[in-house]
Amino acid sequence: MVSPHFSPFLNGSIEVVCGPMFSGKTEELIRRVRRAQIARQKVQIFKPAIDNRYHESDVVSHSSLTCEATPVSNAIEILQKLFDSTRVVAIDEVQFFDSSVLKVIGKLAKRGIRVICAGLDQDYTGAPFGPIPELLAMADRVDKIQAICTVCGSPASKTFRKPSDTKDQVLVGESDLYEARCRTHFDYEEEEKDQLAFSLLFKDQEQSQELR
Ligand code: ADP
Ligand code: MG
Repeated sequence: MVSPHFSPFLNGSIEVVCGPMFSGKTEELIRRVRRAQIARQKVQIFKPAIDNRYHESDVVSHSSLTCEATPVSNAIEILQKLFDSTRVVAIDEVQFFDSSVLKVIGKLAKRGIRVICAGLDQDYTGAPFGPIPELLAMADRVDKIQAICTVCGSPASKTFRKPSDTKDQVLVGESDLYEARCRTHFDYEEEEKDQLAFSLLFKDQEQSQELR
């Protein structure tokens, strides 16, 4: 794969790593950060403060790779906390920011900074998540990666939320709440319920016909 990382002219760039939960977005973000650090480039990593699943400040992958990060409660804070010497900015869970993150990322890239973003492309209903659609459009490079379906082992592009009390788009959780699923098994539980409801209805109809 062509490495977009080095430019003698310090061109800024925007990279997005997207996909469902457990697809390795954070691992990939950490891998790119480490390579930039090996190249002795000053890197700053940010994450939304709302994501405190594993750690208040560190970015941590499901496989326990970890990287020190700065939690921010909004995108403007990224600009406020930026050092002059920073050459690479990494933002994990970028879907949790509002649309102002697009302006911030655009500004950073214009300043010659390489911006690496990782985030969910879809929410648990399969709808595009927050600022992701625009971010994908403005990016120089997009990598959409897949997890493994927990039902059948196929490549998975969807994040399935286990039955829960809330229908809110944002519900921070782990494998207690979420599973990676392929397209076929994304509505698995719902389909099962539908089939059960249908067979009960069918049975009812048969019984009432017998009674007549
Ligand atoms: P993401 O940031 O996309 O949620 P992470 O980078 O944090 O993903 O974690 C990826 C790691 O999660 C994998 O390397 C693997 O060890 C683990 N994992 C757990 N469940 C799955 C799954 N269903 N499919 C793929 N990887 C999984
Ligand atoms: Mg992650």
